[in-house]
Amino acid sequence: MQTESYIYDKVVDWSLLHLGINIPVSLQDIFFQSIKLRLNKGEKKSIKLFIEGIEYVATLTNIYFDKSKYPTHKDLVQIRYTPNSDIAVKLRDIFSRSYDYLLQEKKKLTNKKHQITTPPDIKEYVALYSTQFDDVFVLDCITTAEIREVKSAVQNVNEIDLERIIDSSDAAAGIIEIEKLVKVRKLNNTIGNSLKKLYLYKCQICGRFIGDKYGATVIHTHHIEMFSTSLNNNPSNIMIVCPNHHGIVHAVNPIFDRGKLAFIYPNGYIEGLKLNKHL
Ligand SMILES: [Zn+2]
Ligand SMILES: [Zn+2]
Repeated sequence: MQTESYIYDKVVDWSLLHLGINIPVSLQDIFFQSIKLRLNKGEKKSIKLFIEGIEYVATLTNIYFDKSKYPTHKDLVQIRYTPNSDIAVKLRDIFSRSYDYLLQEKKKLTNKKHQITTPPDIKEYVALYSTQFDDVFVLDCITTAEIREVKSAVQNVNEIDLERIIDSSDAAAGIIEIEKLVKVRKLNNTIGNSLKKLYLYKCQICGRFIGDKYGATVIHTHHIEMFSTSLNNNPSNIMIVCPNHHGIVHAVNPIFDRGKLAFIYPNGYIEGLKLNKHL
């Protein structure tokens, strides 16, 4: 199944293992754009969800709520299935590590409605992708075992080499065991590409599109928190930078001040971002 655009990734929780996936309000425009489909409030549609190459059926719902009672609410879109559905059973099997943990913690709770989150060392993820078909989605499962494998595969790789591998669509095999990176790479690559388009291939630090004159789109993705240690794929950890600034950032390791959206260099120089639409 060819995936078209990345929709989003989320940490595995109780509700994913039993009921479905909420599409965050902030992503719903992107979501509907990528599936070229509109659902009116209260409307449902049957969709196909591929998990590890197997096709499952789920329901895409635009939850009905009373607009007069909740005037500021936006649409609530969910991919839904039931706790005993094949999907939920499959997900609990794949994510047995998260499931066991959540189950144990739930038993200890007196208030069953209380939300439980998995600790950082056992966090697992799903990444949702749309495909060339409106009603077909791919759910990539990223387990703790895979995260561990990726971590060990990348531990001796220089961060900038690693980013280059993730960034490029060509297979830079031979540097590390690429196979283990496939999912993470796909995730980063698609997120990175969407961000590059968002910035029209301009560097967020200097605002320049250096390839313009040459008809080339030479631009990099940089991970604010090192990818080799964090494996953090979220757009909030990715910055679009020109090769020069990318080189400088890795050469001197400035601190990135998220509040001020500025780099603080070791020599005291402070450089704010020229462009920012997503951090
Ligand atoms: Zn730059
Ligand atoms: Zn970088």
